[in-house]
Amino acid sequence: SISPREEAITFRPSNLFYLASLHRPVVDRAEGIHVWTRDGRRFIDGSSGPVAVNLGYGNPAVLEAMRRQMEKTTFAYRLHFENEPAEQLATTLAERLPAGLDRIFFVSGGSEAVESCIKLARQWAVATGQGGRWKVIARMPSYHGGTYGSLAVTGDGFLTDSFAGQIRMMPTVPAPTAYRDRDNLSMEERGLRYADMLEERIVAEGPESVLAFIMEPIGGAATGALVAPDSYYPRIREICDRHGILLIHDEVMSGIGRTGKLLGGDHWHCRPDIVSLSKGIGSGYVPLGALAAPRRIVEPVLKMGGFQHGHTYAGNPLACAAGLAIIGEMDRLGLIDNAAAMGEVLMDGLRGLAARFPFIADVRGKGLLTAIEYADRETFAPLPADWKIGQRVLDAAYERGLIVYSRRVKGGVQGDYTMVAPPLIVTRADIAEIVSILGDAIE
Ligand code: PMP
Repeated sequence: SISPREEAITFRPSNLFYLASLHRPVVDRAEGIHVWTRDGRRFIDGSSGPVAVNLGYGNPAVLEAMRRQMEKTTFAYRLHFENEPAEQLATTLAERLPAGLDRIFFVSGGSEAVESCIKLARQWAVATGQGGRWKVIARMPSYHGGTYGSLAVTGDGFLTDSFAGQIRMMPTVPAPTAYRDRDNLSMEERGLRYADMLEERIVAEGPESVLAFIMEPIGGAATGALVAPDSYYPRIREICDRHGILLIHDEVMSGIGRTGKLLGGDHWHCRPDIVSLSKGIGSGYVPLGALAAPRRIVEPVLKMGGFQHGHTYAGNPLACAAGLAIIGEMDRLGLIDNAAAMGEVLMDGLRGLAARFPFIADVRGKGLLTAIEYADRETFAPLPADWKIGQRVLDAAYERGLIVYSRRVKGGVQGDYTMVAPPLIVTRADIAEIVSILGDAIE
């Protein structure tokens, strides 16, 4: 049968084009966790857009801070002027991030943030006499962005195949989907086994050619709220240390309170060398991204002539003023704690759905980055590909006014899942409504 999504694919005459020819209703306004369309429908945004609108829509304090900044200036080019919002936001982030990650560089989005991390790492290697190190090992599957540099570390053939001749794709190791494995090992043993695959890859590549390992501490777009066994995280750090390799945490999706801690990696204290941020720091108000790194990495690069990276809108005062107000509101409203508490409520609700539907084989996540995965519960064999449950649940939920997140990945291990990641301002009542609509959609 044709899904509503497929039916909706019509080519409409328009000067604007998107990812696909998908026809969607036109947005009118948004407030809190709700979005209204011009045809009068109301949606609950159960995915915070693409897991970005952490603060929810239309926060008055953020709008006011933006208005005040706009009245002064919306723009100041960073090679011509310093700007106070950028300075203050850098200080605010440095104070909250794990110790040592106190040098901040702003960009305008997640892909740029990831590329900045890779370029900083490379320039650090050159500046410290390790110019032979250039490979960045990534996980398969994974998503780290859509620009050429970030695609080079994205483990998803659907997104990269067309560009294979133009990008030098980086080596990969399997993402730690330990929950799927059916063997006699404990979860902790599986975690170590996945981490050790990194070491095997490093050795196979030649350790002196490897610059960095990039991973999301809690996987998002490609793996659906993937949480590795606890044993994975310290072992990864140990392996990177042993071979002099930088550990890059892509916290674009898992960062800024989403998982109930400021960073996803904070659940394991796993000491990344460089961190990318975006989504939540702009929260849908402004395009904003950042990297955070320690002095020991940044200073050699600056001494050698500077970071060869920069974009026109990087660190502009309007984006940074919004970012500051967003962090201020997160503090004032206690949203990181709320994400942790409401995440428990949401996970309980999802477990309830798993009890109802035998084809939900896994319920996972941290805080408000959660997912259910569809598979055979006993064997974890994927369900027939044409069932496309994730896609159909997404469509059915959309028809019922709930937005969830689902994506299939080509290459590596495929997953069929629904991710639920509402804004961090959600209440118990909101979550009850989300779980109830999701249950109807699955039914
Ligand atoms: N890294 C991760 C982990 C992401 O989830 C995303 C966006 N889905 C990106 C990078 C790219 O961010 P952007 O779309 O802002 O370029």
